[in-house]
Amino acid sequence: MSEVQQSSPPRILIVEDDVEMLELLQNILALVRCQVHIARSGEEALTFLQREAAAGREVDLILLDIMMPEMDGYEMIARVKADPALRNTSIIMTTALNSVSDKTLGLGLGADDYITKPFDPRELLARIDAVMRIRRSEQALRRRNRELAALIEINRMVTSSLDLDEVLEATMRGIREILQVEAGSLVLLDEETGRLVFRKTLSPEQGWVTGRTIRPGEGIVGYVVQSGEPKLVNNVERDPHFLAEVDEETGFTSRAILCVPLTIRNRVIGAIEVINKLDGAFTEQDLELLQAMAASVAVAVDNANLYSELADFAKELERSQAQLVQAEKMAAIGRLAASIAHEINNPLQAIHNSLHLSLREGLEDDKRLQYLSMAQAEVQRLIEIVQRMLDFYRPSRGGAVPTDVNSIVENVLTLAHKRLQYGGVRVLTHLAPDLPPVPVVPDQITQVFLNIVINAIEAMPSGGDLRLETLLSGDGEWVLTSFQDTGQGMSPEQITNLFEPFYTTKPTGTGLGLAISYGIIERHGGAIEVSSRPGQGATFVVKLPVRPALT
Ligand code: ADP
Ligand code: MG
Repeated sequence: MSEVQQSSPPRILIVEDDVEMLELLQNILALVRCQVHIARSGEEALTFLQREAAAGREVDLILLDIMMPEMDGYEMIARVKADPALRNTSIIMTTALNSVSDKTLGLGLGADDYITKPFDPRELLARIDAVMRIRRSEQALRRRNRELAALIEINRMVTSSLDLDEVLEATMRGIREILQVEAGSLVLLDEETGRLVFRKTLSPEQGWVTGRTIRPGEGIVGYVVQSGEPKLVNNVERDPHFLAEVDEETGFTSRAILCVPLTIRNRVIGAIEVINKLDGAFTEQDLELLQAMAASVAVAVDNANLYSELADFAKELERSQAQLVQAEKMAAIGRLAASIAHEINNPLQAIHNSLHLSLREGLEDDKRLQYLSMAQAEVQRLIEIVQRMLDFYRPSRGGAVPTDVNSIVENVLTLAHKRLQYGGVRVLTHLAPDLPPVPVVPDQITQVFLNIVINAIEAMPSGGDLRLETLLSGDGEWVLTSFQDTGQGMSPEQITNLFEPFYTTKPTGTGLGLAISYGIIERHGGAIEVSSRPGQGATFVVKLPVRPALT
């Protein structure tokens, strides 16, 4: 309960049909500080109470006569307690009845106390005082509950929401709930411009303020952000620091201002200000409450900032990873370039020869046709070669599709065909005939297999054997593709570094092939296993799950 409510005189409604009794009660109440209203009947009293409640004016206490014509006191108690807007009004029964059951009936219906006529004025005042004391502590409790609920709500938002706007909205709702003020706003420091931006206001009428900026140091908010100290000014006109703040556009005058900084790790990141308390002056308790809210909000702002930085970083990382994958693809193509030139050159030669022959004079028509169709077949081969290169080269798009691993192996062998031939590598394939399709991104797996094949070729500078095998694991869960070469092999130390980015033993290597392959296979829910010994060749086994695992 605020000090203001404590100091404002209690509002008491006398409900009494007896004129003399009414006069007596008025005379007694005139002895103490209070505001008295009168009703001559239950109906009149209810109408008055309802009108006051609708206008937001609370009646604290009803002095209620029990014996009245038409609506008696008991019915009146029942009606007050049944109305949510009136329920909290305190009631003291004034009754000439003195039987225990009469008193208990009223108390049972919800009255707070009773006094039996005739009574000593001092007893009446003492009972009023006691009821008001209980009432005040109840009000204080209710208010404290509301404050706590609002604080808990803000804290819940802070821990559960990364949406900054949502958190700020909840904060303003909480402030509205607890502090009865004319206006309020929340400003945040814009790191880039160094200015304070009005991010949220308390009421929609203040909406025009949103987005406006001020300098740190400007006005009370600016002062609070600059000094990092909260500020409670109940008389703005008289404060030496702050001449009355009048907004030139709206004429809105700030009489009283309470402003607290938003601080995180000793850095001020903004402030919350509330202006003109409706029922009096701002108290230390208001300040404490606003500071508690500010502490939560500061954490929320910090979380939201960290989260968006993290999201940016993740995006950046994803982008650079994609670039890396593409770069490694280019490198792989580069390593095939010399052989690709041959691959293209051979059909070109054949086309050249066929066309040359077909142009000879005196050639029979069907011979000419035969040469032309030979040229056409070679052109088709060229188109296929180029298409295959393009398919591989294009950045992969789309997700996993059920794919026959054998067809990927064959595709890779076609891509590397000339390179294998020039490297003197004999390929021995043993592909399982009835493999189930596996869900993969085909060109990614092509990239992995091509890498392993090129590595094998490069590990056998003077030629050798490459044994390629596919098979289904015993439990039917995995498709295994194994690449076994007869090259120089690797030491255990080399094997531990194998998948490290930029680890290479080749003068022109990128060291990215296996690092990227590892990432690709991991994303597919699979694994790459390696076994090798120096001088004994190497075996790479790629395991891919038959059931979808790609995320
Ligand atoms: P790069 O081929 O560009 O060097 P990789 O990541 O593909 O990068 O391979 C890393 C290193 O692993 C190679 O430099 C090589 O030392 C070793 N390596 C890979 N495959 C084999 C293999 N089949 N036999 C021997 N060493 C290999
Ligand atoms: Mg490589």
